[in-house]
Amino acid sequence: MTDKIHKIIIIGSGPAGLTAAIYASRANLFPLVFEGNQPGGQLTITTDVENFPGFPEGVMGPELMDLFRKQAVKFGAETQFKNVSKVDFQTQPFKVYVEDEEFLAESVIISTGASAKMLGIEGEDLLGYGLSTCATCDGYFFKDQNIVVVGGGDSAMEEAIFLTKFAEKVTIIHRREEFRASKIMLDRAQSNPKIEFIVNKTVEKILGDKENGVIGLSLKDTNSEEIIHFECTGIFYGIGHEPNTNIFKGIIELDANGYIVTKPGSSKTNVKGIFACGDVQDSIYRQAITAAGSGCIAALDAEKFLES
Ligand code: NAP
Repeated sequence: MTDKIHKIIIIGSGPAGLTAAIYASRANLFPLVFEGNQPGGQLTITTDVENFPGFPEGVMGPELMDLFRKQAVKFGAETQFKNVSKVDFQTQPFKVYVEDEEFLAESVIISTGASAKMLGIEGEDLLGYGLSTCATCDGYFFKDQNIVVVGGGDSAMEEAIFLTKFAEKVTIIHRREEFRASKIMLDRAQSNPKIEFIVNKTVEKILGDKENGVIGLSLKDTNSEEIIHFECTGIFYGIGHEPNTNIFKGIIELDANGYIVTKPGSSKTNVKGIFACGDVQDSIYRQAITAAGSGCIAALDAEKFLES
């Protein structure tokens, strides 16, 4: 417990949170950043980032986030590898808890990002035993194997293409015939000789056990409802993400999908002094550069709030 009242507490350390930290620290607000479960955010489970301006040759995701962090710390931000478990925004100063530890702040910037979605089917306890949500993290373990990627968006295409570096064969399983993926990503996947497609099938169950790992899955045809078994030794989910807003439910306004609602053109939430930036409030663009831009907006909004 401490009586110290921080000017700004930033919850989350992806491109949004760390950009907010750079701006807030350069304004001499000495932000305290709680890095959370995944320090550096989603980019730390990516390899090459080719579309972040300023890096014409591309940059590795973890390296990029280390640079963000260094820049924030250089100007006076404090980062702690802790996970915020509870918040109380009812009265000023706001209260942020890491288990029993209480931290006080005049303003809070929420940048907790989003996490990989699961299907909620039987067999998902095999996560880490053949089931994964991150090709760049786990692809290496599936050398010369027959693996499946579930989904029809850019993530699924990207994961499948990446996995062909290791796998013998990659099968993309999608629940429709049309693909949400951009044309360029779909073309790349379709022209890759190691990638095959199965469409109009939903995954009903993951087969296997922790001793032997994944051995296959049950698929249901969306037209005939016929169930087939498909053999594979690895499964990657690429079905999108959901915002990390569990601790804010009932405390600040969320939309129907759980994203934090911010006032258009700003990072302001419905609670004065609480700001949100990055993927936790953006279900549309979800890019590192847009997250970083919104982190800058949040720091400027918070600075203005503190001045007033
Ligand atoms: P997404 O675009 O929302 O696509 C999710 C995919 O998973 C969709 O095909 C969806 O099927 C499928 N899906 C969702 N829930 C499912 C369920 N319960 N059962 C079966 N299938 C399910 O998510 P994303 O691919 O992660 O992309 C998110 C954003 O990041 C997009 O804006 C994307 O362009 C961007 N992104 C860009 C790149 C790149 O440019 N290199 C790479 C990755 C992501 P339906 O289509 O039927 O809904």
